Amino acid sequence: MANLQNATRTEAGVTVNGFLLSPIVEQCTGCDRVRDFENEKFCSSYPNPQSKWVGGKCNFATHTKAEVTAQAKVNPLKASKRAAKGR
Ligand code: SF4
Repeated sequence: MANLQNATRTEAGVTVNGFLLSPIVEQCTGCDRVRDFENEKFCSSYPNPQSKWVGGKCNFATHTKAEVTAQAKVNPLKASKRAAKGR
C-alpha cells in the first residue's frame, strides 16, 4: 500500500496541506484510495472518510461495486419479469 503523500504529524493529528485527516472507517477496507501513514490508514481523497459513508456508500470507493450488486435488494421490476417468464 502506498504511503500518504505530504502528510505530517501535528499535535492535532495527521494533516495534509493543512487539512486534518481522520483515519478510514471499516467500510473503506479494500479501497484503492487507502494510504498508510505511521501505522494508521487514511484516504487519499477525503479528510473524513466516515462522512463519505453516512447514508450510503462512498461515491469514490473502488472496492464496492461488485459487492453492492451482489447485496442489492431484489429489484421489483426484474423480479416480476422473472416471475412472468415462469408462467
Ligand atoms: S475513497 Fe471512500 S471508500 Fe475509499 S478510502 Fe476514501 S473514503 Fe474510504
